[in-house]
Amino acid sequence: MSTTFAITPEPELKNLGHRHYNGKGIIHSIESCGAVDGPGLRYVLFLQGCLMRCLYCHNRDTWDLHTEQAQELDVATVMKQVMTYRHYLRATGGGVTATGGEPLLQYEFVRDWFTACREHDIHTCLDSNGYALHYDLILDDLLDHTNLVMLDLKQIDPEIHKVLVGIPNTKTLKFARYLTERNQPTRVRYVVVPGYTDDERSAHLLGEFIGDMDNVEMVELLPYHELGAHKWALCGDEYKLKGVHPPPKETILKIKEILESYGKNIIY
Ligand code: SF4
Repeated sequence: MSTTFAITPEPELKNLGHRHYNGKGIIHSIESCGAVDGPGLRYVLFLQGCLMRCLYCHNRDTWDLHTEQAQELDVATVMKQVMTYRHYLRATGGGVTATGGEPLLQYEFVRDWFTACREHDIHTCLDSNGYALHYDLILDDLLDHTNLVMLDLKQIDPEIHKVLVGIPNTKTLKFARYLTERNQPTRVRYVVVPGYTDDERSAHLLGEFIGDMDNVEMVELLPYHELGAHKWALCGDEYKLKGVHPPPKETILKIKEILESYGKNIIY
C-alpha cells in the first residue's frame, strides 16, 4: 500500500521541558488495579506532560505539564496507597507502573517513587516513549530501580515518525540503545496504525533495529484503536485519524511473523 504523508509542523515545545523538582509528581490520574500496563495487576500512575504528538494519542489530556485537573503528590502519599495494595499486586505477579504522558519528563519523582517501591520489593515498570532529556546520575538511578522498561518504538523510519509523532525519533532510538548498553530488561511496544506502521517495510525496519538487542525480551503488538479520540475534542483539537479503523488480524499476524524472523518473542 502506498501512502502520501503530509509533514505536520513541529509541536510547540516551550514550557514543557525540565522543571524544578519540588519532591512532588504532577499526576494526571491513578489506576489502582491496571491490567494492561505491565505484568500482572498494577498500581499505575499516569504522569502529566509529553513532548510527542502522536496522531493516535489516546491520552491527549496528558500533554501539558501543568493543567488545572492535575494533582501534585509526594512519594510518601503515593506509597501509602501502594502499600495497601502490595500483597494483592504481588500475588498476581504485578507491581507498579509509571506511565503518562511521558514519565521521563518527571524522572526525579519516578526515581524517588521506584526507589521506595524497591525497598519494599515491589516490581517497578517504566512505560516510556524514550524521550530522555538528560543522561545523568538521576536517570541511571531511576533505571537501577526499574525492573522492566516498556518502550514504545513508534516507527523506525525517521520521516514517517515525524509525521506520525510530530518530532524525530532520534531521542527514542538513543534511549533504546542506552537500555541495551545497560542490559536493561525491556519490552518493546509497537502500535500498528493503518497507513503509518502496518506495512512490511516498517516491520522489517523494527526487526533490524531490535534484532541484536538481547535485553529486549519481547515485543507487544498493539492494534490501533480510536478509544481516545473524544479527548481531542475536549482539548479543542481536531483528531486527524478520523476514518482510520483498527487493522485486520491478518495484518497483525504478518507483522508478528516478520518480527519473529528476527528472533523475538511477540505477544499480541
Ligand atoms: S507518547 Fe503517548 S502520551 Fe505522548 S503523544 Fe504519544 S501516545 Fe500520547
